[in-house]
Amino acid sequence: MKLNSDLEEIRSQFPILERVLPNGKKLIYLDNAATSQKPECVINAMSDFYSRYNSNVHRAVHSLSGEATEAFELARENVAKWFGLPDEGKVIFTSGTTHALNLCAFGWARVNLKPGDAIVLTEMEHHSNIVPWQMIAEEKNLELRWVDVNQETFELDFEDYKSKIIGAKLACIIHTSNVLGTRNPVEIMVEMAHNAGAKIILDCAQAAAHERLDMDSINADFLAVTSHKMCGPTGVGALLISSDVFEEMEPVEGGGDMILEVFKEYSTYQENEHKFEAGTPRIAEAIGWSAAIKWMETLDIEEMHRHTLKLAKNASDGLKRIPGITVYGDHSKEDVSGVVSFLHETLHAEDIARLLDSMGIAVRTGHHCAQPLMRRLGVKATNRASFYFYNTLKESEAFVNAIKMIVEKFA
Ligand code: PMP
Repeated sequence: MKLNSDLEEIRSQFPILERVLPNGKKLIYLDNAATSQKPECVINAMSDFYSRYNSNVHRAVHSLSGEATEAFELARENVAKWFGLPDEGKVIFTSGTTHALNLCAFGWARVNLKPGDAIVLTEMEHHSNIVPWQMIAEEKNLELRWVDVNQETFELDFEDYKSKIIGAKLACIIHTSNVLGTRNPVEIMVEMAHNAGAKIILDCAQAAAHERLDMDSINADFLAVTSHKMCGPTGVGALLISSDVFEEMEPVEGGGDMILEVFKEYSTYQENEHKFEAGTPRIAEAIGWSAAIKWMETLDIEEMHRHTLKLAKNASDGLKRIPGITVYGDHSKEDVSGVVSFLHETLHAEDIARLLDSMGIAVRTGHHCAQPLMRRLGVKATNRASFYFYNTLKESEAFVNAIKMIVEKFA
């Protein structure tokens, strides 16, 4: 299936896109950076699990548990393949990106960093890639170094990164911004981190939805990814790990499934991914994510992304022509995602979002879990429309027209 051959066919896979809201308006869903919609095959895969082979994994010899275990471990394999993990790489299932970043902080940094060691962050980070590092920095007495964002270009100050990475032990970098859409030059940043002797983790929550990430070629030590922004269910994501750092990690949570043996005095642990997945794992969710991946494999991701960018650029260009609107992000570039953040000089962002909602258009408003970035941009909040491959040019145009109308009527 190719996007240009049939966008309608793709849309028909998403039952929710036909939704009429309680106010009688047909839904125009432009909040994809918060979470994407799910195609029928994902919903069916999860429903199939619960209706045909629901059972706990790893623990029983009965057939049903065997089926569930097989599907769950196949999901792990599919995730590994999709993200181009090298053979020695590991997929630890988490509840999402936030959990994956926390696992890296408390499972790797806590064990391997010493007082005085430095971690490099950027002003572009999502709170999920800030707060865990603040916690671990406080606990271990570590230094946090912040890389500036250029307010004109909406890019990281690369010279600043170049100098701050020297002597650091870890870099925690957002791959693609959930506010600006900026895609950071992560390949070079990984190389520079490694040259400086630092490990690097990339927050790929947004990136994984828009491009086929290949861990082998990106060469980062850790990637944090999530299912729910790439057509999969909520409640599952992964910390993807290259082999050598896996050996340096210690479990953060103890319980069933992660142990080899438990004595009164001590316990021994599994040596594979299960060591970091205490308790009953996210079985249905992993199976749903796997179905999303198998479906995405049938699509032309690059073409889908070009389509998304076209819609975002159309919206960004249209918004810039409306008096009083500022757009945060440069959509003339190719390396951006589908997000378009904007603000009107006098209208309150929340009022704009409510008026859009009354027209059936769903966008997000607020600080987008990126308060340091908001401060750098000199704003408290923005409106954010975020496009995905199943959106249409008509929807992008309807959105711009709606803003035009709101500004003409209320500003
Ligand atoms: N990082 C970024 C850049 C994000 O956009 C998000 C989701 N808003 C997260 C982290 C958190 O992801 P999750 O919902 O999977 O925990």
